[in-house]
Amino acid sequence: MKKIIVQKFGGSSVGSAERIKAVADICINTKKQEKCDLVVVVSAMGDTTDDLLDLMKQITNTPDKRELDMLLSTGEQVSIALLTMAIQKAGYSAQSLTGWQAGITTEPVHNKARIEKIETKQIKKLLSEDKILVVAGFQGIAQQEITTLGRGGSDTTAVALAVSLKAERCDIYTDVDAVCTSDPRIVEKTGRLKFISYDEMLELASLGAQVLHPRSVETAKYFNMPLRVRSSWNPENNGTLVIERTDGMIEGQRSVRGVALDRQQARLSIIGVPDEPGIAHRIFNELASRNVSVDVIVQCVSHDGSTEVDFTVKREEADRAKEELAKIAKQIGAKQACLDKTVVKVSAVGAGMIDQPGIASKMFKALGDQGINIQMISTSEIRISCIVQEADGEAAVKAIHNAFDLHEIKE
Ligand code: ASP
Ligand code: MG
Repeated sequence: MKKIIVQKFGGSSVGSAERIKAVADICINTKKQEKCDLVVVVSAMGDTTDDLLDLMKQITNTPDKRELDMLLSTGEQVSIALLTMAIQKAGYSAQSLTGWQAGITTEPVHNKARIEKIETKQIKKLLSEDKILVVAGFQGIAQQEITTLGRGGSDTTAVALAVSLKAERCDIYTDVDAVCTSDPRIVEKTGRLKFISYDEMLELASLGAQVLHPRSVETAKYFNMPLRVRSSWNPENNGTLVIERTDGMIEGQRSVRGVALDRQQARLSIIGVPDEPGIAHRIFNELASRNVSVDVIVQCVSHDGSTEVDFTVKREEADRAKEELAKIAKQIGAKQACLDKTVVKVSAVGAGMIDQPGIASKMFKALGDQGINIQMISTSEIRISCIVQEADGEAAVKAIHNAFDLHEIKE
């Protein structure tokens, strides 16, 4: 059997007829050079999905979920047809497939479905006819209904297809040349990573770096599918390879390799909490049963038998979470629940951090030197995060990036 490569092109890569022709060239070159079977996944052109949502809002803000999927899935249908025509026009055999035609079945929920299964028989048959296949990202089918995978879901379509087809790798083409050490819109001179581990990428993705959709990275990690992030404007560039472990791949690898800013945070506090065994369980158990997911948690040392517990939640859930917390406060005899929606989370990420003393202190010094107050701290094996005031967020990212000289990373 020939090797299979899956390539995914995001909305900006297929944003115009010119871009679609350029992408067709990339596909054809890959097919020629790698002598492979090729499956291409595309997003909707440019801002199509947002435009469709704007159109919808002129009619309703509370659409029926089924109809919303019906609407949003059309964007990808346009781009698959146009890209297929462009490949055909260049003299190559190609065929477009919607999600269901590609055999992608999801769980039966609308707007944010997970892929459950991919029946690859049809794809394999078409590949054996030497066709380049162009598959609509972000959509599938469940019980004969069109479903979508949530915003940014085309990455996941591509990775899931790559896994099901046992592809050699999955290339994710976007508008950046590589995964950078921070957001280039915040930090003027970022470094570039040649390799990054799934775990680091997951941290960066869920911390606000918008290169890859977190679920696609989770899927790639679970099945150990190598991903390559590269630019469709600069296809000769090898981009960044996302793999299980990067140690040993780079000489003198740094322990901190990225700084991310998560603006979707809010801080909740519950004050005057009776300091007794089981109380944290009661608070967080109640929150969980009310479907509130929490992130960074800090409990203060108690004074006079009472304590304060602070934690962060997603900002979009903050108002609801505050209401729930106020009810919980009453139940457990705490004084008060408070909400601050003006906080953000800055994180330094790197797989080598755990073996390296002094990383945290260097990060805190960088923030202190800029007069930035740290409200909360949390750590994992590969990450140190600080909650700071929103107004300090970008300065904090710059300060940390600078302290670790991340602009020097050119790998
Ligand atoms: N077109 C969808 C969106 O904009 C899916 C994707 O681009 O991955 O969210
Ligand atoms: Mg998009």
